[in-house]
Amino acid sequence: MVVDQVRSCQRQSSSKGSCSGRVSSSGRIRAASPWLRAAVFGGGMHLDVLFASQLVGIFSRLQRSRDLVWLDSAGSPAHAFNSWLLSHGWTRTAEWKWNHGDTGLRLDLTTAGDAGQRQHVVRDAWRAWCLRRHMASDRRDNQLDCFDGGGYFRRIDWNATRLFAASCSAARTLVCGATFSPAALGGRVATYPSTACIWDNCTELGTFDHVAWECVHRPRFVPKPAEFLSSRYGWVVTNQSVDIALVQSWLIEVQQSIWTAVYQ
Ligand SMILES: [Zn+2]
Repeated sequence: MVVDQVRSCQRQSSSKGSCSGRVSSSGRIRAASPWLRAAVFGGGMHLDVLFASQLVGIFSRLQRSRDLVWLDSAGSPAHAFNSWLLSHGWTRTAEWKWNHGDTGLRLDLTTAGDAGQRQHVVRDAWRAWCLRRHMASDRRDNQLDCFDGGGYFRRIDWNATRLFAASCSAARTLVCGATFSPAALGGRVATYPSTACIWDNCTELGTFDHVAWECVHRPRFVPKPAEFLSSRYGWVVTNQSVDIALVQSWLIEVQQSIWTAVYQ
């Protein structure tokens, strides 16, 4: 019974993730980071993490009737679960116990525990793994700072970030890392054959940081968040020193101004 459920999960997991398609509702999101998008939107539905969260739910329910037996032979549920965890940033410390390095999260299936809470732990660690995959990519924005020196990963407010993304197409573009600055476009757009900044009277290279946070000709001077995930993507981090709503409204203005300058 359990093995059948595991195999079913494995079949789902090995098929292409439901979040692998490109978002095209606005017609402008063409280069979103699949890993940023998965981290923000995929925790409850991405097939890769569904596999592990279903398994931890099965184990937690089993545990109510008997102690779990560690059988790490190929094809066993424990083996499948352990393999998945090890390939997603977890380290096994004992039978049915794992630690997650980036987040400090722990799983201990030797004692009774709430299945939902454990599934939440698995999803949260999986989001960190997604961000690590983004960092391992060759994208120009791969230098995330959320794990440095203790990091602020655990302070990311995923719900508030999803709400921001849902507010308009510019916000969703920002959240998924699909913003193209003039510098990133490299002057290859016929309507904007230049890499220069979009603001009037500025001829400097139009990198995202320049356009949003450094240009002396920008129309508004909003304080820049210390967290890269906020200054670049508008993600919400709890206990920030900046007014994130103000930052988000400014980033939307930047995104829309880039679209206006480059495509109209
Ligand atoms: Zn400028």
